[in-house]
Amino acid sequence: MRINRAVRVGVGAVALALAATVTAACGGGDEGSALDHAKEGKLTVGIKFDQPGLGLRNTDGTYSGFDVEVAEYVSEKLGVKPEDITFKETPSAQRETMIENGQVDFIVATYSITDSRKEKVDFAGPYYVAGQDLLVRADNTDITGPESLDGKKVCSVKGSTPAQNIEKNFPQAQLQTYDTYSLCIEALRGGTIDAVTTDNVILAGYAAQAPGTYKLVNKTFTTENYGIGLKKGDTETRTQINDAIEAMIADGSWKAALEKTFAGTGFAVPAPPTVDRY
Ligand code: GLU
Repeated sequence: MRINRAVRVGVGAVALALAATVTAACGGGDEGSALDHAKEGKLTVGIKFDQPGLGLRNTDGTYSGFDVEVAEYVSEKLGVKPEDITFKETPSAQRETMIENGQVDFIVATYSITDSRKEKVDFAGPYYVAGQDLLVRADNTDITGPESLDGKKVCSVKGSTPAQNIEKNFPQAQLQTYDTYSLCIEALRGGTIDAVTTDNVILAGYAAQAPGTYKLVNKTFTTENYGIGLKKGDTETRTQINDAIEAMIADGSWKAALEKTFAGTGFAVPAPPTVDRY
């Protein structure tokens, strides 16, 4: 970083203050593109830390889930070993900013490709297609889809597409937004909210962790194309990540990763999506 250079040449307090400002402005990220970092043998990849089956930081400090498997496969194709990946938590509302600031090289975190996000970042993929659904307590019988949410307390996450969808299209629901889905799940368990809404695969992962506690409504009402978010305009990285996703699908690793990480959720492995070379 610039600040190191300033310290080395010893140009004094003014330069240091200036360097600190520059560092703050670039958000503390390393300079250079994702491919530059890969050539140096290291990558910083954004994932979720609290979504079982997708992106989870385990108590022993290891990471698991389908997004982690995709991140490791793609990194390997870019020449970086799994042990040389630094995983960083990228909550839904912070993803575009963390990419723009260079705090992560790319993000694999149940990240839907949308036109408004594409104004700030680019996406490789899709590598999976999910759909928005609802999770309720196991004994609930009156919530059967988004049209039955009138007056119900529904939890989702700030900056997520499911929260935006409820706000815009189902305003009769009482939407509450938290920073993470695990906070919504706790509120559902405790009875302070009636339903959690987000992608079906995410909800299925939580349900599998506490058998008999929750019920997936199992009626998706959106299409969520999961992409790998990266710096806008970095066509070279996007092309190489798209190549890696296609290779993962073609050599059977994609299917194997889903079978492994979705075990216990009752989810069948779907047909793979087609990568969009926009
Ligand atoms: N796929 C949706 C999104 O990107 C919901 C999941 C999430 O918040 O990560 O907003």
